[in-house]
Amino acid sequence: MPVRDDLTDMAPYGAPQLDVAVRLNTNETPFAPPPEFFAGLQRRLPHLPLHRYPDRGARALRAALGARFGRPTGQVWAAKGSNEVLLQLFQAYGGPGRRLLLTAPGYSAHPLIARTAATAVVEVPLGDGFTLDPDTAADAAERAHAHVICVASPHNPAGTLVGADVVRALHDASDALVIVDEAYIEFAGDEASAVSMLGELDRLVVCRTFSKAWRLAGLRLGYLLAPPWVIDDLRKVRLPYHLDAITQAAGLVALELVDAMTAHIAQIVAERDWLTAQLEQVPGLKTSPSHGNFVLVRGADDTLFAQLLSRGVLVRDFSHVTGLANCVRITIGTRSEHQALLAALHDVV
Ligand SMILES: *Cc1c(COP(=O)(O)O)cnc(C)c1O
Repeated sequence: MPVRDDLTDMAPYGAPQLDVAVRLNTNETPFAPPPEFFAGLQRRLPHLPLHRYPDRGARALRAALGARFGRPTGQVWAAKGSNEVLLQLFQAYGGPGRRLLLTAPGYSAHPLIARTAATAVVEVPLGDGFTLDPDTAADAAERAHAHVICVASPHNPAGTLVGADVVRALHDASDALVIVDEAYIEFAGDEASAVSMLGELDRLVVCRTFSKAWRLAGLRLGYLLAPPWVIDDLRKVRLPYHLDAITQAAGLVALELVDAMTAHIAQIVAERDWLTAQLEQVPGLKTSPSHGNFVLVRGADDTLFAQLLSRGVLVRDFSHVTGLANCVRITIGTRSEHQALLAALHDVV
């Protein structure tokens, strides 16, 4: 039995998972969650009724998430990573005969997830410096006749922000559901978030994750803030009991420990700025200013990824992506990882 026609030439998502000394390729934070997190989880685990199905509505977790933003449970949704949140959104609002507008370049998983949901993708190219201006955004939104629009802010892999004026332009020039994927927003600061526009734009969805700034990539927990009708629609496509009891409990523990969980963010941001300045000193390299926990670097040719890997440093290769010729993306790690990276780079050039 052959796979579905529209999946035959599809390559699975595959950021390499290699056992090397320095892993700076998938934008996790280099610091494990604090001991308080594990202590809190350990206290809760024996009381979890794991012989029963979990709360299908994940109500306690969604209420706690909502409380952070002053929003009721009915405007919050959670799933196994923001990738599952996005899948559910594309299943509900995309699907056969429907279109999704994305930026090019953009987050590699967006078109993959869209494809599994049988949703056609239309792209708007980013301008200079990997940004979108309101006029280009409005024009693209109008012409795409898209049912869903999804932009990442900060952008992955460039690290640029999508301004409020651009989000408003995408929304007002279309009838689409407009998703702002804020996987890295904690590194950019609250004032950069589209959350404050939720009251104003009635088809806006803001998607977030515990995988990056919250240092819980291994947990798989993501969420969104949206008008209540979106949450009602997502209930139709989610699998029964899609969010397991352990993840719900772990999310609650993390939310009780906001300060401890996010204490390292300032350090990551400072380290990003330090590393960016150092990279600018390496002959032949060009960086883009980033608001995330990563930095995009353009090298002299497309061998940078392989040359670094042969020196034990794994970064993310974008050199063959349209618009990203000779580029790699480097995740912000620890100072000693950066020193190893810089030594390898100086060796290469
Ligand atoms: C890393 C990332 C995510 C996170 O996905 P999870 O499934 O929550 O781990 C989402 N969107 C973008 C743009 C990302 O880079």
